[in-house]
Amino acid sequence: MTELLEKDRNFIWHPYTQHKTAMQPFEVVWAEGSFLYTANGKSLFDAISSWWVLLHGHCHPYLIAKVQEQFSRLEQVLFAGFTHQPAVLLAERVLSLLPSQFSKVFYSDNGSTSVEIALKMCIQYWHNQGKSRKRILAFRHAYHGDTFAAMSVSERSMFTNPFSEFLFPVDFIDPPLRKSERGQSLQQMEAALSKEEYAAFIFEPLVQGSHGMLMQDADELSQLIQYAQEHNVLCIADEVMTGFGRTGKLFASEFLTCQPDIMCLAKGLTGGTMPLAMTICKEKIFEGFLSENKEHALYHGHSFTANPIACAASLASLDLLMKKECIDARKRIAENHSNFCKTIGEDTQAKHWFKDLRQQGTILAMEWNSSEQTGYTNKLRDEMYSYFIERGQLLRPLGNVLYILPPYCATAQDLEQTYSTIMDFGRSHFGSVQSSDAWKEV
Ligand SMILES: *Cc1c(COP(=O)(O)O)cnc(C)c1O
Repeated sequence: MTELLEKDRNFIWHPYTQHKTAMQPFEVVWAEGSFLYTANGKSLFDAISSWWVLLHGHCHPYLIAKVQEQFSRLEQVLFAGFTHQPAVLLAERVLSLLPSQFSKVFYSDNGSTSVEIALKMCIQYWHNQGKSRKRILAFRHAYHGDTFAAMSVSERSMFTNPFSEFLFPVDFIDPPLRKSERGQSLQQMEAALSKEEYAAFIFEPLVQGSHGMLMQDADELSQLIQYAQEHNVLCIADEVMTGFGRTGKLFASEFLTCQPDIMCLAKGLTGGTMPLAMTICKEKIFEGFLSENKEHALYHGHSFTANPIACAASLASLDLLMKKECIDARKRIAENHSNFCKTIGEDTQAKHWFKDLRQQGTILAMEWNSSEQTGYTNKLRDEMYSYFIERGQLLRPLGNVLYILPPYCATAQDLEQTYSTIMDFGRSHFGSVQSSDAWKEV
């Protein structure tokens, strides 16, 4: 063990890590484009965009230049009673890119917090009017972050179990997954809304990330939003993962015919270089806080609200994101993915390895057949993780769901390498069995 790893073991508590059994971490020394380089001379293709944040690759020279420029002018200032150019220009820019008319941007610094703020906005919106709308409606299999309100509106699981008594009650309905029975989610929403006046309905639009890259039908989701809004329920689209081009459009909400009242953005906002988040609302919500009564203000804020360097990084990232080159790259990645799915479908062996292949834009999810139930603790997960790392591929399967969510600078050759490693894994894992009937039982 190197000296640094020894100090890591002595001093660090890592996220999402059972330290009793975890492998020792990889020490990353530098990174460029789609690759991470480790202290022991390994290169890793960052096929999951460093936890879904990276857009244009690591250490992009344009982002570095813009960040340096901002750092030397204004690096941080309180955001109550003060403002600055990067925050204002970024808000104006993001509002102009959204699929419908949003009005105000509230800054914070991570996805979970952007969700907390969205929920607080909704709850206080009704409180300010003296209305007793207190319950929240959410989707099963949801993930909205790790702080308490964000956990409350997420699927209850081993991640939230120790805190269950401390989470506020939420009603859950089934998401309108592509494979589920049509109309089922709407029926559940109708039943829920007939019993309760909800403050808000929160959802990950089109792709539910953490619970296995589950993918929804856009028309059905639009119907749900429309129905909720007809019943005065405020709709929150958590686009923390789906924002900034991942799903094939700039925002997943662009696929919808009915728009949310609040949108949460984080992860890709700064191109994955720095923590920054936005909770964006429609005018009527902002107006619900305007009052002569001081108690009607939203008393929420963080030390680093709208940090100028993070805002400058975001403006620079948006410059790159809107370039034809980047738009073409996103299209090409989606094509690469769908061609790979086609190849699998035509492969007499490989087509039996998967329970489901699903794709939305640049996100490809592959659910392997497994004797165990689909889920985060599925044993295939550790086997796959090690297999791919040993072959220079950073993939972090969600149980038996392997997914690729690459940065937009990933080349066709990079992806080809990932695809062929996946095929190798399939052959080595399922390969000794010859008859295709053998797959059907698992
Ligand atoms: C990652 C994620 C969050 C939480 O964001 P953090 O920045 O990790 O706190 C919230 N919602 C969704 C949909 C996410 O994917």
